[in-house]
Amino acid sequence: MDASAPPCNGLVPVPRLEDLVARDKNHDCSGFGPAHICVRVDAVADLPTRFGRFRIVAFWNNRDGKEHVALVHGDVMGHEDVPTRLHSECLTGDALGSLRCDCRDQLETALRNLAKMERGLLLYLRQEGRGIGLRNKVRAYQLQDKGLDTVEANRALGFRDDERDYGVAAHMIASLAVKSVRLMTNNPNKIQQLERNGIKVSGRIPHVMPANEFNRFYLQTKAVRSGHYLEFEGKEVLPEQDDPPVVESGRAT
Ligand SMILES: [Zn+2]
Ligand SMILES: [Zn+2]
Repeated sequence: MDASAPPCNGLVPVPRLEDLVARDKNHDCSGFGPAHICVRVDAVADLPTRFGRFRIVAFWNNRDGKEHVALVHGDVMGHEDVPTRLHSECLTGDALGSLRCDCRDQLETALRNLAKMERGLLLYLRQEGRGIGLRNKVRAYQLQDKGLDTVEANRALGFRDDERDYGVAAHMIASLAVKSVRLMTNNPNKIQQLERNGIKVSGRIPHVMPANEFNRFYLQTKAVRSGHYLEFEGKEVLPEQDDPPVVESGRAT
């Protein structure tokens, strides 16, 4: 299949976000990316958050039952240059406040920044633990606690270093009839992955995290080590989000 021409199968703009549910009712395509996962918009609702007003779009999935969602701020359908963030689920960081990673900082910063813009999109992708799942992530943590590094831990569990797939993200962007995205990322590889799946990436917005008095040292240490994450006891850990952090310097927020 020509990567520049993904299957579109009726993924046309409709007047309102909620009209996507009816449009997608019988949608079925060969999917985007190597896993050939097809998703359809299943439900749309308001989602006021502590970061701003969003609508939440729930996606059905024809392969593995994973329930991905999109958070939409403003009008995105039919628009070019939509600021977009891809966030991979991290239950321990996002919901439980774990400091083994900085996923929650990355998520909150993205939502806060998107909510300030005219329009914006965050895809919350259910690829927990670099795609290996929650239980396996905890098993990898357990092996790391015993002294294995993360690559060794993942391999001991029979996984590659990174099992993430952005084909689903590409399909979600196409489903939302977004014509092009400005990707909020520090990682050029993520841009290439979306483009490989037929999504037009018209620009990049640096994903810069504000430091506060509590996390400044933690974030700056990681930023300085340019992607080589250290957890508090000094063992190297792989980032669960695939963006090296860039930290706003100087001012506490
Ligand atoms: Zn499809
Ligand atoms: Zn995390």
